[in-house]
Amino acid sequence: MIDISDIKALDAADPLRNFRQGFELPDDLVYLDGNSLGALSRLAQQRVADAIANQWGQDLVKSWNMHHWIDLPQSVGEKIAALIGAGIGQVTCCDSISVNLFKLITAGLGLQSGRRVILSTSDNFPTDIYIAQGIEKLLSSDRCELKLVEESEIINQIDSSVALLLVSHVNFRTGEILDMRKITASAHKQGVLVIWDLAHSAGALPLELDSCQVDFAVGCGYKYLNGGPGAPAFLYVANRHQEQIRQPISGWMGHSDPFAFSTRYTAAPGIHQFLSGTPPILSLVSLDAALDVFANTSMAQLRKKSLQLSGLYMDLLRQYSLLGEFTLLASEEDDRRGSQVAITHPQAYAICQVLIDRGVVMDFREPDTLRAGFAPMYNSYIDIWRAVNELQKIMKNEEHLDPRWQARNKVT
Ligand SMILES: *Cc1c(COP(=O)(O)O)cnc(C)c1O
Repeated sequence: MIDISDIKALDAADPLRNFRQGFELPDDLVYLDGNSLGALSRLAQQRVADAIANQWGQDLVKSWNMHHWIDLPQSVGEKIAALIGAGIGQVTCCDSISVNLFKLITAGLGLQSGRRVILSTSDNFPTDIYIAQGIEKLLSSDRCELKLVEESEIINQIDSSVALLLVSHVNFRTGEILDMRKITASAHKQGVLVIWDLAHSAGALPLELDSCQVDFAVGCGYKYLNGGPGAPAFLYVANRHQEQIRQPISGWMGHSDPFAFSTRYTAAPGIHQFLSGTPPILSLVSLDAALDVFANTSMAQLRKKSLQLSGLYMDLLRQYSLLGEFTLLASEEDDRRGSQVAITHPQAYAICQVLIDRGVVMDFREPDTLRAGFAPMYNSYIDIWRAVNELQKIMKNEEHLDPRWQARNKVT
């Protein structure tokens, strides 16, 4: 039986307990949605305020050189690289995952002449599937065909007709982790190149992109990396592919000499060609600062606490006998569980709305999933205790059945 004194002891012994003060979070808010929008760090708040007041405000266009705005996609990319096991010169920070997938899928197909199949999973994040469908339409079926299979079937479905494998490392709904090393190796045996979507992995768990021989990857700046709403995404291209590869959104920022204003496009060397248009500086400044918070800890330390938080959440659900009413989607095995726990219930949407009303923010995912995300930098053990206690009260009093919790918002 876990009680409040156990919870207090866990918080007191937590080596990351002081990190929360570095975030602008209301004291009484239990925020278990850092997997959707990471919290605002004070460092990001200060640096963005400074970039607005002093850089944009006072130095204006001079800031591109003076404050190195022009280098931010690269320098922020290197900070992300350090968190995902990538050596230098392979990661850049730009655009959204969707746009970066368009670049990588089309460019990847270009490396795989004679092959046209993109293999992905039917439970992949919708934008990944939509972008592949758009490319299928653009190139026509003799050059590109998207094939969707069950997540558990991926390795069996890899054969020499496949050009690219497009998979999410952590499933956004179930939180299930796929085996990056094993899947990448299986793909390579058949000559298949792999694009990993790290939206729910980067900043959440240790990654070893180089060591797993990953070809390409994309990831998100606004989830676990705390870059802020709409923060730019990142993309990774392994060194060994950089010379041959050409991406289709050949904008001036990916030109070898943008300020020559030549009429002819020449791709910049290395990862640099993957930039397209002018970078969103304020968002990059915010993400840059948010990444500096990671310098005071390690992914191993964050992962350890994340597993303790998600483990505690599941233990408390069980202690309050909630796992009869709810079905657990998350894996109980540590090495298969991302930094979230999803449970399902036919009334999950309404339950989620009542929780938010009680100061416990989680999110709902169609059709019936209630997702709790754990951000070990600012979530405490008492947060988990409060969340499950609120959930238990709501279920006991059937508060979610009130009609006012049934109407859907535009963003869920
Ligand atoms: C959040 C998320 C995205 C978001 O893509 P954007 O184009 O950056 O909005 C993509 N893939 C996965 C797996 C996600 O969880």
